[in-house]
Amino acid sequence: MIDQTKVSFQHDGSPYSNRFNDIYFDISQGTQQSECVFINGNNITARLAKGPKTFVIAETGFGTGLNFLLTLNILKKIWQKSATDQSNPAISTHLHFISVEKYPLSKAQLAQSLKLFPQFSELSQALISQYPEQPDQDIDLTFFQGAVTLSLIFKDATQGLTSLLSHQNQPHSALVDAWFLDGFAPAKNPDMWQPALFQQITRLSKEQATLATFTVSGQVRRQLVAAGFRVEKRPAFGKKNEMLHAIFQHNPHSGKGYQQRPMIAKPQHVSIIGGGIAAACAAYALTKAGVKVSVYCQDFSVAQGASSNHIGALYPLIHQQTDDISLFYQQAFNYACQYYKNIKAQGFDFDHDWCGLLEISYKPALTKRQQQFANTSVWPKDLVHSVNKVQASQLANIALDDGGLFFPNAGWLAPGQLVKQIFNAAQATHRLKIETGCHIDKISQQANGKWRLHSATKDYTASVVVYCGGAQGIPLNIIKQMPLSSVRGQVSNLASNEKMAKLSTVICHKGYVTPANNNLHCIGATFQKDSFDITSKAEDDKFNLDMLNKCLPGISSWQLTDIVSSKARLRCMTPDHLPVVGAMPDIQAHKTQYAHLSKDKHWRYHESTPVIDNLYLLTGLGARGLCSAPLLAEILSADICGTPYPLNNEQLFNLAPNRFIIRDIIRRKFDSSG
Ligand code: SAM
Repeated sequence: MIDQTKVSFQHDGSPYSNRFNDIYFDISQGTQQSECVFINGNNITARLAKGPKTFVIAETGFGTGLNFLLTLNILKKIWQKSATDQSNPAISTHLHFISVEKYPLSKAQLAQSLKLFPQFSELSQALISQYPEQPDQDIDLTFFQGAVTLSLIFKDATQGLTSLLSHQNQPHSALVDAWFLDGFAPAKNPDMWQPALFQQITRLSKEQATLATFTVSGQVRRQLVAAGFRVEKRPAFGKKNEMLHAIFQHNPHSGKGYQQRPMIAKPQHVSIIGGGIAAACAAYALTKAGVKVSVYCQDFSVAQGASSNHIGALYPLIHQQTDDISLFYQQAFNYACQYYKNIKAQGFDFDHDWCGLLEISYKPALTKRQQQFANTSVWPKDLVHSVNKVQASQLANIALDDGGLFFPNAGWLAPGQLVKQIFNAAQATHRLKIETGCHIDKISQQANGKWRLHSATKDYTASVVVYCGGAQGIPLNIIKQMPLSSVRGQVSNLASNEKMAKLSTVICHKGYVTPANNNLHCIGATFQKDSFDITSKAEDDKFNLDMLNKCLPGISSWQLTDIVSSKARLRCMTPDHLPVVGAMPDIQAHKTQYAHLSKDKHWRYHESTPVIDNLYLLTGLGARGLCSAPLLAEILSADICGTPYPLNNEQLFNLAPNRFIIRDIIRRKFDSSG
């Protein structure tokens, strides 16, 4: 029986719980607070827009149904858009919204509350008309001809979730994609926020399930972490300064032990070795997360290595198929574009032009690939699409003999300026110290677990070390155990001329040529394996010019004498062309602990990865650091600060430093003793 006297209506018409002395929602903010916390906190709009086959949201505390109506409204808009947009396939998602409510409103109270939201009147009517007169029996309501099911469970949250059966074909009972953890604040409603509730949340969460809640109470945060969530505080809306966003990413019952990334207590201070794009992004990510950072850079100033090139192209590595490499670079590229725009929006400016990039089909194999892209591309058109010779010439503003693939959001930027500005952004947090001219030639761990960073003139103490150096640091002890290699690349800068000044997009062939910046074009680059030599060479300039003239004959009238300057730098490469981010593995312990993988590669061993404590790597960025560094730094920060990862377990393992040793064991490269 409902005790309706426990709910009253305030002068602004909004419902108030006398039982908990709290409001159901803050009407002074309209619906924005609920949208900000629950909808945006779970990234619902983007996730539903992808059109998953089924999507399950579970909520504690149905109350007036406002969160449900907000979700329904998003889905309605997505369907309306897909119905009018011919280029997009129709979206047919089944949304299952499960809400557990211990003290349901009466039908009249629900109707009175929802009058506050005339914008949803149609959806509200659909809800009110199905809402039971006596809300005491669990009930399923349907909307949009059965495309949406609302399961109302009129029980205590823990009891209601316990009663939920889970999917048969999912590991570990997983059912839920997103959690709306509502229900009055823990201080006012301690009975709901009990460990048993979090046990049910763990039981029912799919891997990568997200969770959002308006409370930032330390107790809730700790329970979420213990339940396997990685938790982050985010700014909220209006009177609520902060909220919690979390992702279920530590499910010990799924995946293999060696895919588990170690959790550490968030340190106060981190020491970074390096001074390029990787170090800059790592420093910025960590300082933003509240960690103090010291950067040790071997050169007299930051950005003197590969990041010192005059111009660098920003574009993703995309194959025709959606393989691991392409998927990573697609995500990294989207992330980097947004990141650089944000840096600029904060006033940290650098030379750049998001002018697009053309990959020219300069040989038959590439023309064939272009044709395949034109016929059946799995990639969104705003990422990459095929263009014919005429279109390519228009885009480049210069006559071209071939068509190719066009990346409309790609472009070029000045890497040295960018790196300095990212460091400036980190410095604005007042948590960054940079030591230049400081070549760390050895690192060693003390008995107390602390690190010593040794240089010729001075030693430094560190509690957590991140190696962000490029190829020059490969000989550094410990790092030497990683299969990293150095590939020398020389780029040549050429004076612009009347014809080339018109070039309006970056062009990639076997090498590349960029539009003019300060009257200079960059062409490149050579590729010399296992070289650590950074002196520039005349024969390499000739190689670059010959390559340009061979792949794009007639595009330029440049002679060797037009080369104004050149620079050779080192790329730090990995065997599988993906970068490395994460804790440094204990290689010897891997060989012992995972020896059985050589007999059965599917063997599941749940004990987590043995690592060298408090030593992390962010390196092996090859020639694609501008594209990958921001996302990698976010992963590093998640490793160190315990916040949510932007990628799932499988994708993280593709970047994990221990992937090489695990693959070697599986390929039986050595026996367990070796
Ligand atoms: N999500 C609601 C909306 O959109 O209107 C607002 C929820 S209101 C802040 C909190 C809700 O949690 C109330 O409806 C309350 O009855 C419910 N609640 C409180 N304790 C609960 C418990 N232990 N189990 C289930 N629901 C509970």
